Amino acid sequence: MTLRGRLTAAFLAVAFGPVLLGAVFVASTVAAVDRSRATERLAVATTSVRTSIDALCQQLRAAADAVAVTIDHAGTAAQVVSRGLATAVLVTDVTGRVSYATPEQPPAPWRDCAAQAVPGGPVHALVVRVQLHDADGSALGTVTAAQPVDPAFVTRLAAVTGVAVTLLDGDAPVRVAHTTESGNGRDAVLAAAASLHDGHVTGTIDGRYVRRTGPAAGQPLPLVLSVPSDQPPGLHAALVAVVLMAAALGVAAAWRLARVTTRPLAELAGAADRVATGDLTARVPVRSRDEVGRLAVAFNRMTRETGGYLAALASSRDQLRGHLAVLGDTLASTHDLPRILRVILHSALAATGARGGTVLLIEQGEQLVARCSAGLDEYGPGSAPLRVPVGSGVVGAVAATGQPRRGRAEPTSTAPDEPRCRTYIAVPFAAPDATGGEASAVDPPGRQPEVVLGVLALYDRLGGEEFDDDDLATLRTFARHAAVAVDNVRVHEEAQRLSLTDPLTGLWNYRYLRESLRREVERASRFGRMVSVLALDLDRFKRVNDTYGHAAGDTVLAEFARRVRGEIREVDLAFRRGGEEFVVLLPETDARGATIVADRLGAAVRDSPVTVVGHTGVREMIAMTVSIGIAVFPDHADTGPQVLAAADEALYAAKTASRDTWRLAPARQPSPIREVPVPVEARSPADGLPRAGPEIPIATGDPTAGT
Ligand code: GH3
Ligand code: MG
Ligand code: MG
Repeated sequence: MTLRGRLTAAFLAVAFGPVLLGAVFVASTVAAVDRSRATERLAVATTSVRTSIDALCQQLRAAADAVAVTIDHAGTAAQVVSRGLATAVLVTDVTGRVSYATPEQPPAPWRDCAAQAVPGGPVHALVVRVQLHDADGSALGTVTAAQPVDPAFVTRLAAVTGVAVTLLDGDAPVRVAHTTESGNGRDAVLAAAASLHDGHVTGTIDGRYVRRTGPAAGQPLPLVLSVPSDQPPGLHAALVAVVLMAAALGVAAAWRLARVTTRPLAELAGAADRVATGDLTARVPVRSRDEVGRLAVAFNRMTRETGGYLAALASSRDQLRGHLAVLGDTLASTHDLPRILRVILHSALAATGARGGTVLLIEQGEQLVARCSAGLDEYGPGSAPLRVPVGSGVVGAVAATGQPRRGRAEPTSTAPDEPRCRTYIAVPFAAPDATGGEASAVDPPGRQPEVVLGVLALYDRLGGEEFDDDDLATLRTFARHAAVAVDNVRVHEEAQRLSLTDPLTGLWNYRYLRESLRREVERASRFGRMVSVLALDLDRFKRVNDTYGHAAGDTVLAEFARRVRGEIREVDLAFRRGGEEFVVLLPETDARGATIVADRLGAAVRDSPVTVVGHTGVREMIAMTVSIGIAVFPDHADTGPQVLAAADEALYAAKTASRDTWRLAPARQPSPIREVPVPVEARSPADGLPRAGPEIPIATGDPTAGT
């Protein structure tokens, strides 16, 4: 059963129940009053019947007495009858023989007024008998005065009592002799009288009340008195109509009330269904300020808020997609360290809502250098990258201990170069130590040893809140993953560097020489610049090996490389070509510049002997010299290998000349079809950078000759 159905039933019971009860009460009260009034009227009528019959009997007795006291029975009897004192008079002698009778005698059976024992059965006349006596008192006979009990008698009785009178004719079965009731009433009265005893009152099915009276002493006639009900004729119909109307009204009111009550609930249920299917635009009308109205308001607010949360969720999902895309791109460019650092920083900023931040990497084990920063402009002039010694300030402490930190910035705890922020959070970039080194103090027990690569520091969250422990946990996990990526780049870079460097001297190897030569010559060719190539070979190096051993030779080679590095510019490149042969590339350098470098190199080797430990473990001083061949692009050749070959030739020339000297490659004949892609200049231009052009005559580099 629906809620509306139950409410309707409840309202109906409340509204209709009292009406029904009232109707029943009215009906029963009216019936009781009616019955009691009818009973009263019948009692009064019974008394009237007794009085009337008593009066009739006294009248008959007077008539009989009058006939009895006279001698002329016939004359007196005729007078009595003519006066109406009796209807018939009968005189009998002691033997019962009729001595005189008035002409009209009523039919038997007669009933004596004085009879004490009253049998049932029909009664056709009421009589009074008086004894006739002579003077001495002997019985002579009987005078009987009679009055017939006929319809006229019954009608008179009814008129006197004011109720309907029915004379019964026999008790079993009960029959009607005379009655003043009409046809239908007669049957109903007969049916009711069958079970009635003297003095009892009952109702008939057609709404009459019936009372049986007699036969009894003093009232010898078997009579039934009946009165119609006093109830208003349409009372029951009116009551039924009222009840039905009340019922109809009750149903209508209950249905309407239930509808009004359940409608908002139905609307709420419908809206909830829509929300359940994902439609968060569902709203319910607020029709009142009662509990249901408040529920509707709460529901609307709930769906609105949920919609807001969903929108925020969708936007954060979009953001996440964006970050995923960036992360994906970054993973694709695994070896682009600046880009990886940028993505790491921006992801961390987005995740925590920080205003600014920086990624610092440890360089040379002692300095944290900012490799990527964002949003730090407001913290001061940031032209130079932030540098903080490990162990100093907040980030320095994080790098030293490997423990993350968060909190408010105190001027005493921050390093001078650190941003002047209000709140900060800093986590270490710690990657698993691939070298399998000893567990350090920063490693928790049971964990794989980690090496701190740097620090990720974020400053001042938007909105002013402090960074919390959740931020710390998130950032720490993130930094651990990020550190692996950074470490990968570093490992990759190191591997690449190792693949291109010579382990003994730390100089670039032959592989990188070819690559660099090609690149530098191509660049010089494109921009019309010059590149000088120096081919170096230690003089009589075999002897060193032979005299002091291979290890001493290696020491000499390493020392030579160190001196070469010390003599050249940062843009110049030094290579170990193999054995004790080396190459130096001098970009943007013409022959004149190259000879100057060659002079310096020769001097750097020659001027101070190399200290080695010989076979015998004794420290020895070895004097070394180097021979150098010089070739210049585009003066001596058009390609990298050709320039190198020209330098080799010049080296050979230096060796054969005297060693410990340099030679410039011989000038070549200009080719008529040789392309010179740049304007030809006779002298070095104002910017000082040498350009391609005709060879400048330079003397050979014989240090002894003093060129
Ligand atoms: P010069 O060049 O003046 O003609 O004489 P040299 O003795 O230097 O001549 P050469 O080129 O014949 O000798 C090169 C020697 O360098 C041969 C080898 O014993 C030595 N050598 C080559 N590579 C290494 C190395 O890696 N370590 C050591 N210790 N010696 C090397
Ligand atoms: Mg050699
Ligand atoms: Mg040599």
